[in-house]
Amino acid sequence: MVLIMKKIYNAIKQINKVEKTPYYIYSQEQIEENIKNLQEAFNWADFKEYFAVKATPNPHILKIMKNNQCGVDCSGINEIKLAKMVDYKGQDIFFTSNNTTEEEYKYAIKNECIINIDDYKHITMIKKIKQKPETISMRITPLLKVGNGIIGNPEQSKFGNTPEQIKEGLKQIKQIGIKKIGLHTMMVSNELEIETLLKVYKYIFGFVSQIKEDLKIELDFINLGGGIGYNYENREKQIDIQKLGKKTQEIYSKSFKKFENTPKIYMESGRYITNNAGYLITKVINIKKTYKTYIGVDAGMQNLMRPGMYGAYHEIEIINKDLEQRKENIQKYDIVGSLCENNDKFAIDRLLPKVQKEDLLIIKDVGAHGFSMGFNYNAKLKSAEYLIEKDNIKKIRRKETFEDYIQTIMEV
Ligand SMILES: *Cc1c(COP(=O)(O)O)cnc(C)c1O
Repeated sequence: MVLIMKKIYNAIKQINKVEKTPYYIYSQEQIEENIKNLQEAFNWADFKEYFAVKATPNPHILKIMKNNQCGVDCSGINEIKLAKMVDYKGQDIFFTSNNTTEEEYKYAIKNECIINIDDYKHITMIKKIKQKPETISMRITPLLKVGNGIIGNPEQSKFGNTPEQIKEGLKQIKQIGIKKIGLHTMMVSNELEIETLLKVYKYIFGFVSQIKEDLKIELDFINLGGGIGYNYENREKQIDIQKLGKKTQEIYSKSFKKFENTPKIYMESGRYITNNAGYLITKVINIKKTYKTYIGVDAGMQNLMRPGMYGAYHEIEIINKDLEQRKENIQKYDIVGSLCENNDKFAIDRLLPKVQKEDLLIIKDVGAHGFSMGFNYNAKLKSAEYLIEKDNIKKIRRKETFEDYIQTIMEV
């Protein structure tokens, strides 16, 4: 981590020579370390991670996944197209959509993706398509009371099928002669409690062994979804992924002990893989004092929506040469952007060493669901993205221009 931070500081120095703030940077080494940790934690199983594209939808990032034995999880045609840009194809693409159209199924089936069904009635739609998928999976949403409420009460969830619908669906899928069948779930998001994740896993393993016994349907894999949390407030205290792996193994062994053939384990983590590898660099352009002190920066909620939308915390660090001298002088600030929206704030009442105009701020842990949730409100333009490779800094997205922004407007 210390070594990676050193490279980040150095990269910022280099990038500042050619790029105006704000911009995003990602550490390839950090991403690869995260992938390795996840793969190691589950190496007791026939395991594969399908990176959730929506977390960091840049093909250069997806290429890292490809080079590290990961598949991709895509939720629509355009995400499949992004994956295809780096030669992802076939069963390395897990198509987890919801509210899906026939056109989307056709596209995914033509590209030989794994089809994950969010509504069991769609099996009828799939049957009508000439080409038969090699693999079909179904998404289950049981009435389990788990989690931190981000995805919400299962009774209010728009995702997945009831266990009864799954049983009905699996029978139909078997009837049409699909070679490989799987089960998928995603019940929690940004979950920091191992016990909560295990509760979901235990349910799923139990359900699958019941399917094996009662319906005599062999499932090729179980996709445990994403949702492994990141501790934004206390960065030193992250989920113990090796412990999660080990505990999952214990439950898995117990659930399937009477069976010879046991399912593969898949995951589609996003946040766990890229979150701590991403940084948003922004500059202080204004310091305003009214009833509070506002640090105005050149990024805003349009670059990173999480604080404004969920009240999410992100650590913010000031990079400045004479910072040491200012460390004594801790003050309370709101860090704000320039949208005409009062929730356009990266932090409220944040204690920081005295900030000065022109200071550079690093907003941390923005590698997942950061840039990708950006928007163009107030005609704000998207920032550039850089990838810090082992010995190289690579620009992986240029800044959006006004011309890009108006390209879709018809001539006036
Ligand atoms: C968002 C999402 C993921 C990734 O979630 P993380 O919290 O980033 O791990 C995986 N699967 C599905 C179906 C999702 O919607």
